[in-house]
Amino acid sequence: MKSQAIVEFGKPLQEVETPTPVPTGTQVLLKIHNAGVCHSDVHIHDGYFDLGNGAKLPMAGMGLPHTLGHEIEGEVVAVGPDAKGVHVGQRYAAFPWIGCGNCPACQRGEENICVGGPRQLGCSNGVPGGYATHVLVPHPRYLIDYGTVDPALGAAYMCSGLTAFSAMKKVGKLGPNDQVLVLGVGGVGMMGVQFAKALFGKGPLAADIDDERLAAAKKAGASATYNTKDPESAKRLMADTNGGAYAVVDFVGSEATFAYAQQTVRRGGKVIIVGLFGGAMAMPIPMFPFRAISINGSMVGSLDDTREMMELVRAGKVDPIPFQKRPLSEANKTLDDLRAGKIVGRVILQP
Ligand SMILES: [Zn+2]
Ligand SMILES: [Zn+2]
Repeated sequence: MKSQAIVEFGKPLQEVETPTPVPTGTQVLLKIHNAGVCHSDVHIHDGYFDLGNGAKLPMAGMGLPHTLGHEIEGEVVAVGPDAKGVHVGQRYAAFPWIGCGNCPACQRGEENICVGGPRQLGCSNGVPGGYATHVLVPHPRYLIDYGTVDPALGAAYMCSGLTAFSAMKKVGKLGPNDQVLVLGVGGVGMMGVQFAKALFGKGPLAADIDDERLAAAKKAGASATYNTKDPESAKRLMADTNGGAYAVVDFVGSEATFAYAQQTVRRGGKVIIVGLFGGAMAMPIPMFPFRAISINGSMVGSLDDTREMMELVRAGKVDPIPFQKRPLSEANKTLDDLRAGKIVGRVILQP
């Protein structure tokens, strides 16, 4: 099999050839047809995450070469002797957020936030991902039926879709006059708009610094839009919602967006932080009880979330996001383009 692998952090990916694995036990081998390129791949490729104020979180202990890619779709080409209910020739997306299976988080079905030793495809040390011709999936339960949507999109739902869906689910039940604000309507935020419509039966509010993105959000069903560069926009939002949004889902995760969220969430409401832009927060502690607000983080989603999301997708309740296909050999160029902010929608690599 061939991979486009990191051989040195921050240096161009290189084509690496290794023996194609033979599945044992419950393992399933997929021949990859589609692999999405995610912004977090850029961070792993760089070798660190930016924590703001010059602080960096290094990819400590990541062995190289490493094959990136956690948005994977492919065809079953071999199955281990204990892999039941799955047959050669079937096409699936692969749930990548695989945990140890034994820790308290995994036992609750929250493998995506495993504390015992995650085995995330393309992200965990020693677990190769989708920038390759083949990938090994440890158990058939991680194979996801994506229905009749484009298989490339089936791949993209495993990270960008799931991240948006799981964050929206954390909003919980809305009262009749409650509003949800989607803060940041880039690729994942736009999916948030879609899932908000599907989950709550009405379009969310949308805020961004870019009028073009806001126009696209409006077209996708946002009920009102706010340009955060306009100093009056938060006041207008407070007036429009009669006291603020019940939930603000922050798809940017910067100091500026957190400040905006803090300003526009209503008493008793929630701020759900999804974006990894970076920075630090400071907030007077008495504000938590006085305003009775809660602040939640959301990191991708669970296997159950994935199945629930795919039901909405298969039922045609979610419009496709824009995407383009590129050959696997352009993996490195794609990371560079993403780093330079030159990509609209999702790039899907195809071997
Ligand atoms: Zn991702
Ligand atoms: Zn675990």
